[in-house]
Amino acid sequence: MMKERFILPDGLVYLDGNSLGPLPRGAAARVGTTMELEWGRLAIAGWNRAGWIGQPMALGDRIGRLIGAEPGSVSVGDTLSVKVFQLVAAALAMRPERKVVLSDSGNFPSDLYMADGLAEALGDVQLVVVEPEEIAGRIGPDVAVLMLTEVDYRTGRKHDMAALTRAAHEAGALTVWDLAHSAGALPVELAGAGADFACGCTYKYLNGGPGAPGFAYVAPRHADTARTILQGWLGHAEPFAFEPGYRPAAGAERMRVGTPPILQMAALEAALDIWDEVDVSELRARSIVLSERFIAAVESACPDIALVSPRDPEARGSQVSFRFEHGYAAMQALIAHGVVGDFRAPDIMRFGITPLYLSEEDIDVAAGVIAKVMTERLWDDPAYATRSAVT
Ligand SMILES: *Cc1c(COP(=O)(O)O)cnc(C)c1O
Repeated sequence: MMKERFILPDGLVYLDGNSLGPLPRGAAARVGTTMELEWGRLAIAGWNRAGWIGQPMALGDRIGRLIGAEPGSVSVGDTLSVKVFQLVAAALAMRPERKVVLSDSGNFPSDLYMADGLAEALGDVQLVVVEPEEIAGRIGPDVAVLMLTEVDYRTGRKHDMAALTRAAHEAGALTVWDLAHSAGALPVELAGAGADFACGCTYKYLNGGPGAPGFAYVAPRHADTARTILQGWLGHAEPFAFEPGYRPAAGAERMRVGTPPILQMAALEAALDIWDEVDVSELRARSIVLSERFIAAVESACPDIALVSPRDPEARGSQVSFRFEHGYAAMQALIAHGVVGDFRAPDIMRFGITPLYLSEEDIDVAAGVIAKVMTERLWDDPAYATRSAVT
């Protein structure tokens, strides 16, 4: 446990690190240093002398270790939605004779919106969405790209990345894996699974802070052929040659677009200082212990709410979700009583299990509060019924 490495308000059990990780203790000082000593003293010279220009690839390698990526195959920047667009476009361009992007109905809406917008812009490409369990059966000779999020944001259901990647390849398709709920949550072996492209965000389990950038992975075997449709100058082989024509940089660096968010990356760097010390398999083992304890305690005390996450821990990510008709109000009541999770429409109460800063005691406290809110119907209060902009 590394709870002392994070700033968490006393008396709060934070089960929302799957949505926004808490503040790493070193992050404010790291951002302060970047502002005062780098931006403040170096100004424009910071790009060279403080190494700002190399940060997207340097941080990419540190994230790469957590997701089983080869050195140099991950670049950081933009937002996850943008990375989805870029990578699906790159994969489509490598299978010009095929016209289907295949995804599932459990995918995060932004991924589906981005693919749909891209398909519409290209004109002859179609986004096909099936139920998660129908994916394997739908992969066929018309599919150019299999675009999946490994762990379902609502239920926590986990796809078998290696098996689906193999099936896609056997059918001649390429894969784009979204690791939004995988990076920092469980071991990921991109190279081992033979993944083609992958992307993710850094503000959820990785604790990079609100608005922290996304990342993109390009398998080394595609490094020289993958095209980025977003031909920004910092993905150019020689940005400072200012050539009129676009020539892509080598490998994953070509997925860079424009000027990187240096202040936000400073916060991410402090978060990655913690991750550098973490063994992800041990973290996963702890996540399973804590999740099983949480499920058992909540189920025994609260017959009104139903587990929607897979019961087999190997088939889950690092979150536990329950279905309850009055889930929004119940979550507001929990938050008012010091247990922070979140709500996903239409009726899902979601709890992120993050062993870096959660103990057995935290789990027991949270389960106790949930039992109290449910058995005493504390959620049944008009104060908890009004929905905020962010749920
Ligand atoms: C959180 C999440 C996003 C959010 O994308 P942003 O561009 O970072 O806002 C996209 N896809 C998935 C699967 C997510 O879980």
